[in-house]
Amino acid sequence: MLSHSFATALPNFVSPWRVEAWPDAQIKLLNPDFQLDDAALWQLLKQEGHAQAYAGHQFGQFVPMLGDGRAVLLGDIATPDGTKEVHVKGSGPTPYSRRGDGKAQLGPVLREYLMSEFMHAVGIPTTRGLAVITTGETIARQTLQPGAVLLRVADSHLRVGTFQLAAIRGREHVLEVLRYSAQVLGVQADTDAALAEALLLRVMQLQATLVAQWMRIGFVHGVMNTDNCSITGETLDYGPCAFIDRFDGNAVFSSIDQQGRYSFGNQPHIAAWNMVRLAECFVGILEVDALNELVQQFPQLYRNAWIKEMALVLGLEPSPEAEELLDDLLVLLQHHNPDYHSLMLKLRNNPESADQWLQPWIQRWQALDPDRDMMRQHMPNWIPRNHIVEQVIQAALRQDWDVVREHLGYARDPFNAPVAKAPENPAPYVTYCGT
Ligand code: AMP
Ligand code: MG
Repeated sequence: MLSHSFATALPNFVSPWRVEAWPDAQIKLLNPDFQLDDAALWQLLKQEGHAQAYAGHQFGQFVPMLGDGRAVLLGDIATPDGTKEVHVKGSGPTPYSRRGDGKAQLGPVLREYLMSEFMHAVGIPTTRGLAVITTGETIARQTLQPGAVLLRVADSHLRVGTFQLAAIRGREHVLEVLRYSAQVLGVQADTDAALAEALLLRVMQLQATLVAQWMRIGFVHGVMNTDNCSITGETLDYGPCAFIDRFDGNAVFSSIDQQGRYSFGNQPHIAAWNMVRLAECFVGILEVDALNELVQQFPQLYRNAWIKEMALVLGLEPSPEAEELLDDLLVLLQHHNPDYHSLMLKLRNNPESADQWLQPWIQRWQALDPDRDMMRQHMPNWIPRNHIVEQVIQAALRQDWDVVREHLGYARDPFNAPVAKAPENPAPYVTYCGT
């Protein structure tokens, strides 16, 4: 029997649910880090779990009821990293499926597994893949593909959208979610108002750090809706995500993000916007002026986090000179749009080989005596670039699991993996939502 901390603490935010039986379920990948065998996995899937209810802003539009339309929270498991929630995604319709089929295709499931293993390996907070199982069905989206489910683990699946649903229902419900969230994050205070303040600050700090880490590695989440914004500060719901090849604040990969709301450079602004949506849920618990004062701290929290993260990849100790250098680098990158990852590796290995336009900057940077070991520990050789992710997905679709495993090996040890070469002619890359 599994324990169900989320459902026990927040019974009004779940519907008991079981995953359906699949015609021909086969475990294709099982993450060795979680030390579970096949039998334990099948046992997990037989348990009664819950579909979560939440609201959310999708591309800025408020949707009062979203919820797990294609996922079930199975319960808590013990892992070498402590207790985690196990969640199965793509498992079939739930009470929240609306018009969706509740299913997932192998390609997107594999993308989430690969990307999240990489993020974990480079020290960025994320949910993690526990297993990939093909279901024996064929699922139609842009193309036909084998159906698959992803088992994933997270510290918690609490989202800003959980608070938003609570806020629609009233103050008592917000307090319920607040108290449970505070318990999960280890936040304490004497009064409800103080707890709301402490929690909001903690979530803002976690989100500022997370997005700064995405920016340093060149990650575009692609769908930072409030229902995908984790209270525990984990990278949550890898849908149309991608890594930038060329540095460009306007980089967008998602087919539906026509306005560039979730572009690479807009991510810090969206995180700030999402934090205002969280703050809004505490109206009635905290004074509006106090809430405003809190959310106005986000830009500074983000700035501090960004300086810290960028200093790490450039081997610098934070200082006023370093800060100025980082700001100047950002302007240069945005103007010249170089291949970001290749440039970072050049700076580490042979800065002389970098383009002329960067040489004056490089001289100033060298004068600060950058620490090459620090750089090596924060900018990996290997990155799941778009053309590589596509190769891995194509390999899985032709059942070439050796190729998949080889690349997963790089994703899990990217600092020692061979350098991921830039594509010769990067073709425009399009990713899809709800995949
Ligand atoms: P996402 O942006 O992928 O996290 O999904 C947004 C919302 O749509 C969530 O409530 C999902 O559960 C739901 N959803 C996405 N795909 C499907 C699907 N194929 N069937 C049912 N619900 C879905
Ligand atoms: Mg989601």
